[in-house]
Amino acid sequence: MKGKIEIITGCMFAGKSTELLSKVDEYNIRTLFVKPKIDLRYDESSINTHSGKKVDAIVVDSLAEIFNKLSDFHLVAVDEAQFFGSNIVEHCLKISNMGINLVLAGLEYDYLHNRFESMTGLLQIADSVKYLTATCVKCSKAATHSHRIVREKSKILVGHQDFYEPLCAQCYSKNV
Ligand SMILES: [Zn+2]
Repeated sequence: MKGKIEIITGCMFAGKSTELLSKVDEYNIRTLFVKPKIDLRYDESSINTHSGKKVDAIVVDSLAEIFNKLSDFHLVAVDEAQFFGSNIVEHCLKISNMGINLVLAGLEYDYLHNRFESMTGLLQIADSVKYLTATCVKCSKAATHSHRIVREKSKILVGHQDFYEPLCAQCYSKNV
């Protein structure tokens, strides 16, 4: 039987990592936690939520690196999935064909509201998609946009509260 592919997406501060961990709790089976190498926000080998929960994860450039580690696991949980290459789609299909379930959390759009190619592909193969919203910091409506507050081009600024804020579509268009 094929494994299920579930996607959790939305803007920043929408609680995607928290939802990922609660989904994993729901499954309650042996789970391999995976993160892309780019996310060095906290220590390199854990998934952290803004609410302070933390689990150990392996850090890889590509999901192909976990194929030989999967024999002990029934679920793969991926955080920050947007930072993987678009080949994450074929890798997920392969893992699913092995009978292993996947739950992936990732941003649908970057701070310029451009889609992440990897997430666009994942949304097309997903068995289920959960869209989460944050709260707009200007007007308290449901926020769907991640707005970058500082303008540093050289640095990859991943998910740090000081650099981004969630906005609704209306406030975002006024602020960009
Ligand atoms: Zn707003």
